[in-house]
Amino acid sequence: MILLYILAVFTSVPVIIYAVWRKYYAKSYKTASPAIVYHSVDTESGLVPTQVPLTEFKKQIKWLSDNKFHTISPDDFLRQELEKQNNPGKYSRNLFIGFEDSYVSVAVHALPILKSAGFTSTLFVISDYIGRKNNWDVRITKDFHMTEDDIRSAIKDGFTIGSHTRTHRNLRSLNDIELRDELEGSRHALEDRFGVPVHALSYPFGRYDKRIQISAKDSGYKMAFTINRPGSQKEFDPYAIPVTGIYSIDKTHNFSSKLTRTGMYWMDIMRDKMFNRFACGTILVKSRKRKTTG
Ligand SMILES: [Zn+2]
Repeated sequence: MILLYILAVFTSVPVIIYAVWRKYYAKSYKTASPAIVYHSVDTESGLVPTQVPLTEFKKQIKWLSDNKFHTISPDDFLRQELEKQNNPGKYSRNLFIGFEDSYVSVAVHALPILKSAGFTSTLFVISDYIGRKNNWDVRITKDFHMTEDDIRSAIKDGFTIGSHTRTHRNLRSLNDIELRDELEGSRHALEDRFGVPVHALSYPFGRYDKRIQISAKDSGYKMAFTINRPGSQKEFDPYAIPVTGIYSIDKTHNFSSKLTRTGMYWMDIMRDKMFNRFACGTILVKSRKRKTTG
């Protein structure tokens, strides 16, 4: 009897997950081209889910190279998606790769590998945290963000920079003036400091709503990416472009199924949703701290 009960639980969980997936998230995968984001890449994986081990990162880039993927800039990705609206259903191997938060570990480990594979990517920079510790995050292990020199040398090597706001706050909690300061302030700071146009934004924690999308547009961005995939998106929205997060738990077989959308990739996507929920812990802790200190 107990065995039957356990069996029933084990079989019903994937069925429920699949049903939720089909109802809320499957649609957006039919239309979107592959776009992925990493957070950090380092020699040791540790306990941080967003930190991809270097050995695994190398395998993933080799897999992309072996399978004839090309990497494209945010501007080209946007152009491609707008053109694709007239030619839906065409799966593209033109891949967008982003790095949220732009940690030093990415400059040290990931960028040289991408460069030698002939790939490019976009670094989403938190403009007030250049060269600083990630004190905006509540996790115990602290990492440094790229320095100005790191970013300059990445730009020289052909990498693009985008904005990840000024201070990585939950944009939904901000009033209109604070919101505009985070978005427009960051774009101006990056453009003034590095002398390159900044067209792409990535929402911290993937969190956005209609008001934030309008503010992003008014702040001069041409597009905005989100890790918090909109499930009900019927057509391409330049201010809610879904990106797939790659995490420490992803091995080459998960990675490839996430990229090609084959096999049980929907299980991984639903798991990633859980990761994103954990990341929202930072939002809760920070907002509590603000309430008690302010
Ligand atoms: Zn981030």
